[in-house]
Amino acid sequence: MIFKQITTFSMILKENANNISLEILNKKLDEINMPPSKPISFADIVKSDQNIITNKSRKPEEKTMIISANKDSSITDLQQKVHNHIRNMRSNNNKTKINKIIKSRTGIIIKTPTSNDIDSLIEEFKKQDEIKNNANIYQAKALDPTIVLKKVDKITDSDNINIILCNMNPELEGLEDEIKLLFPIKTSAPHQDLVLRVSPKVYCIIKKLHHVHTDLEVVQIRDRVMVRQCQNCFIFHPQHKQKECPNLKACKTCGVTGPHQCDLIQRCHNCIKHPMYKSKNIQHQPNNKQCPIYQDQINRIVEKTCYNPVETETTTTTQQNNAVLNDIHDQ
Ligand SMILES: [Zn+2]
Ligand SMILES: [Zn+2]
Ligand SMILES: [Zn+2]
Repeated sequence: MIFKQITTFSMILKENANNISLEILNKKLDEINMPPSKPISFADIVKSDQNIITNKSRKPEEKTMIISANKDSSITDLQQKVHNHIRNMRSNNNKTKINKIIKSRTGIIIKTPTSNDIDSLIEEFKKQDEIKNNANIYQAKALDPTIVLKKVDKITDSDNINIILCNMNPELEGLEDEIKLLFPIKTSAPHQDLVLRVSPKVYCIIKKLHHVHTDLEVVQIRDRVMVRQCQNCFIFHPQHKQKECPNLKACKTCGVTGPHQCDLIQRCHNCIKHPMYKSKNIQHQPNNKQCPIYQDQINRIVEKTCYNPVETETTTTTQQNNAVLNDIHDQ
């Protein structure tokens, strides 16, 4: 009797063991069919930054002009006037090239392929009273690139890093005013990363050097795109400092705003309410590159940044400009 029970029990165990292994087998098969969901490493992130920027710096530079509507004028009216005037220009055989016209929240953005095109367009629109009187017309200033100096010893005087770099690296001599410390990334280690904003000219010199000397050591340089985002409410380009955030705190984990019992399920605070992304994968934090909205912000900043010194060298001739361009592209 006892023997029979033991045999049955061992059979059940055996059957269950088979079930378990089948389950694992099925899971393994699923894994083979699914794309790997490997966590993104920091190296991957840096690489992707590098790729976006490399692609951008190889593209011919677009110029941007902005027709920003005055407070009480309608943007739709302004858009109509801009379109009408472009039509007039064309009927007068004006062949100024335009890449794109975008209606924004505050006015009209026009992209052109060259500086000549932008200059003649600005001149054209400034001659039109009905546009000029209702809007501010100007060329958009490109952003300067941001980079990170990796693992700089805290003994190095970070407030004077621009002077130190220009003293220690002959290639940067005299460019102190084109390097600005934005902030050190706080750490408890004896070294820290320094985030710098540099002119396109300094950017190109530094990119060729791959590393620079501080007063104490040689340090590596990385591209870094700075996205402004309040870490309390997670809105982008906030008009407030995080400490003075007027909004309720948004949960980085579950995405809920204000006091709540967190269910610890990861949902992105920004993607939850986004018309397009809410139906997609929202299992990420709102402040990193796994978030498609955050990634869009990075792409927009890269789009607006001038990585190419040619744009700022207004005194160089076209021939010299081409030489600089080829130099960069041949790297
Ligand atoms: Zn905020
Ligand atoms: Zn929560
Ligand atoms: Zn998201």
